[in-house]
Amino acid sequence: MTAYHCDLAWLGGEGAERDVLVVVDGDRITTVEEAVAEPPEAAVRLPGLTVPGLANAHSHAFHRALRGRTHRGPGSFWTWREQMYELAASLDPDSYHRLARATFAEMALAGISVVGEFHYLHHGPGGVPYADPNAMGVALIAAAADAGIRITLLDTCYLQGGIGVELDDTQRRFADPDVGAWDARASALADSVPADSPGVRIGAAIHSVRAVDPPAMATVASWAAARGASLHAHVSEQPAENERCAEVYGRTPTELLSEAGALSARFTAVHATHLAHADVGRLGASACWCCFCPTTERDLADGIGPSRALRQAGARLTLGSDSHAVIDLLEEARAVELDERLARGVRGRHDAAALLRMATEHGHASLGYPDAGRISPGCYADLTTIGLDSVRTTGTRPEDAAAVAVFAATAADIRHVVIGGRVVVADGRHTSIDVAGALGHVLR
Ligand SMILES: [Zn+2]
Repeated sequence: MTAYHCDLAWLGGEGAERDVLVVVDGDRITTVEEAVAEPPEAAVRLPGLTVPGLANAHSHAFHRALRGRTHRGPGSFWTWREQMYELAASLDPDSYHRLARATFAEMALAGISVVGEFHYLHHGPGGVPYADPNAMGVALIAAAADAGIRITLLDTCYLQGGIGVELDDTQRRFADPDVGAWDARASALADSVPADSPGVRIGAAIHSVRAVDPPAMATVASWAAARGASLHAHVSEQPAENERCAEVYGRTPTELLSEAGALSARFTAVHATHLAHADVGRLGASACWCCFCPTTERDLADGIGPSRALRQAGARLTLGSDSHAVIDLLEEARAVELDERLARGVRGRHDAAALLRMATEHGHASLGYPDAGRISPGCYADLTTIGLDSVRTTGTRPEDAAAVAVFAATAADIRHVVIGGRVVVADGRHTSIDVAGALGHVLR
């Protein structure tokens, strides 16, 4: 048993509570007590504001190697994609393990306790499977364990280069020969992970309406339903995707996914940027998750999704760092509100508590961890402590701490991170990995 005494802790209310004693046994929280001014002597003191572990609900780990290298000159999502393909072509299971280990360790430093890894780089050059066809997925799972974070590996179905377009050379590495082959490979991976694994879940993903045809979408959706697994898809990130989908199918991407049986409370629409009015209603009526990735969406000039309208319709929002232009869930959280202000000309559409909930409880639940992302008895013991003594955060009144966390603090303010009862970050340093060194080594 370990007791943590938090100066301030966000327990899901409007603001932070004072003097919160959190008792942990193994990987779970057993008790949470407020207003404990005199904690037991053995209690570990956590100065600052402690929030539940953050959930990075949408990641492509290898994109971390593009940071800074795709920011010269003009271009679009489509020119960026060419650069991303070049990088993908260079990775194998060993080099991907090293890159992902360092990237996931950067996530741990940023207070992230679980990553939703939307994994589509499955095969070797020319699309030739490795001896273990899941070697790349296994490398990602090992990388998350090394970094001390949990992972939901979203095994992604990718079958075509675009609607009616053949795969190009790089895309062959993403693709299985047909949806039956995807099913067999994803099933083998899922069956290799114990159902009660504390750190790994296997979910499914439909890459996009570009890469997966409607009958195959239905197969992937059934696979996820039969296993009670999380199902994610990139949805309406770009207007060109919507236009092509309308041209060929006479439907929006969300409509197609709905007809394929994909929409449910286990489904996450990633981006959900360019939605038709009726799509907002569809995603809301099915209580879907919508994962906003604002730092990537602005980096790629994607646009601003209807975050407030989605919440009003019944959808729940989560957050992801996606292409890892930065890895900072606090920045993603504030961007949802600040983008909404810019787009609609009104402030205060998502308050600090709503934004923190997206970054914690919602993200975990969308990744198959309904018992994480809350500082509450029975939940995973994931505690992320934000220092309130940095140049960005000092002088914060307790009643403003939650607002300062989302509107001013950054990943650099994360001081202490406990994941599943294990200390992974102490005093701003990863306890087992020299993260900057590891990143520098793989990014040379
Ligand atoms: Zn993505």
